Amino acid sequence: MDGTTLEAMRTALRGPVIGPQDPGYREARTVYNAMIDRRPAAVVRCADAADVMAAVGFIRDEGLELAVRGGGHSGGGLCLVDDGVTLDLSPMRWAHIDPSTRTARVGGGSRLADLDHAAHGFGLATPAGIQSTTGIGGLTLGGGHGYLTRRYGLTVDNLLAADVVLADGSFVTANESENADLFWALRGGGGNFGVVTSFSFRLHPVDTVGVAITVWPVDRTREVLEWYRDFLPQAPEQLNGFFAALSVPPGPPFPEELYGQKMCGVVWCWTGDPELLEETLEVVNEPGPPAFHFTAPMPYPALQGMFDELLPTGLQWYWRGNLFDRITDGAIDVHTKYVENLPTDLSTMHLYPVDGAAHRLGPDDTAWAYRDAVWSGVIAGIDPDPDSAEKLRQWCVDYWEELHPHSMGGTYVNFIGAGETPDRVRATYRGHYDRLAKIKQAYDPDNFFHANQNITPAEQ
Ligand code: FAD
Repeated sequence: MDGTTLEAMRTALRGPVIGPQDPGYREARTVYNAMIDRRPAAVVRCADAADVMAAVGFIRDEGLELAVRGGGHSGGGLCLVDDGVTLDLSPMRWAHIDPSTRTARVGGGSRLADLDHAAHGFGLATPAGIQSTTGIGGLTLGGGHGYLTRRYGLTVDNLLAADVVLADGSFVTANESENADLFWALRGGGGNFGVVTSFSFRLHPVDTVGVAITVWPVDRTREVLEWYRDFLPQAPEQLNGFFAALSVPPGPPFPEELYGQKMCGVVWCWTGDPELLEETLEVVNEPGPPAFHFTAPMPYPALQGMFDELLPTGLQWYWRGNLFDRITDGAIDVHTKYVENLPTDLSTMHLYPVDGAAHRLGPDDTAWAYRDAVWSGVIAGIDPDPDSAEKLRQWCVDYWEELHPHSMGGTYVNFIGAGETPDRVRATYRGHYDRLAKIKQAYDPDNFFHANQNITPAEQ
């Protein structure tokens, strides 16, 4: 892109337009995953929906390639394309709470922390991920699961409306009664349909929650997983617990003698009667005595931020996911083999429950295509050292290839790894792919929005 084009964009837009020669370019093209090193022709920081509309028109008319950046957390760095233009929504971080209707309206570039903080002031929250630095944009459009999912569903189950700038630069609202097909597609179809400038969510009374972390030595993984797969699905929906393989991080609440030791464990969140947390979790002794069991009441945003420091921007990441309706003995064999050989201290495997309230919607109510899944799993190789990149990728791919036959076939769209093939993307949208492709044809027939887990517009 030449300087004249950049200048024309600067004149048209209120937010800054950052080109390769500008100070701040390096920072503007830095995303969460340090494995991603792309050089866009420009990063356009949109101040508001008007900027988004103008920028979309400009990029389309100039025939440039477009990517949209919410929180910049996607594993494959979907928000950056070499020589294209990134619409960076980070200036649009705001959250307005209406306590009388228990709803929130959130800017399209917001992080989970923005919503969690604003809603917590009113003793409210909505389900989202487990790390507060994640973008609401990408997380929501993919589905969104976290600590409140068993109790209140997926993030998309709580989406009431979205304001969207379409490929032709027009601005529409999508909800149950306006552009209902688009609203359906936004709830699990990824960033395929337009730029969401604001999301409206239903909120729930969630204030201080009961938090617990239980870890067992890694050689107990088989017994712990056998117990966990039976216990959690029949536990009250107020109890959420994601399973993790980990090396114990050096810091509180863990005791020093466990630092660096390989463990398996569960991170619990209890939204029931605080008095009942200890009693509900007495069962953690069933698979054998834990090496460490910690419980504490915590303001919900503090729980959401608990892993932020451990996992800052700038680490190398490679991840892949699977969805499971049960954890088979064969899957446990694979987990046991790989979690004993985590390639680095930060590498991990998580199983997030997606049952409970998430099962109360029908299979076709939203684009999220796996209402029958009970767990969404992710295998993540993570390390600060760029020289570890290949080791992380290889461990993750080997683990995933052995585990995948024990899964339901598709993946949570936000856990598709960099370089996975289009048939993996199709399996993720499952039986909803053709319906999504028709909606894509209606709203984005030229596939202008393609820096995502892409849906090809249906033939006319
Ligand atoms: P980006 O890279 O900015 O965007 C990802 C995709 O969404 C791109 O295609 C982009 O174009 C599109 N997009 C983003 N915002 C918009 C918008 N406003 N309008 C249109 N398109 C948009 N997921 C969970 O569900 N639960 C978890 O607990 C969870 N934990 C995570 C923890 C970590 C540390 C990380 C790195 C990820 C986690 N994820 C989790 C996955 C997360 O949902 C995805 O990484 C998601 O893509 C992040 O969205 P983003 O906006 O930050 O990413």
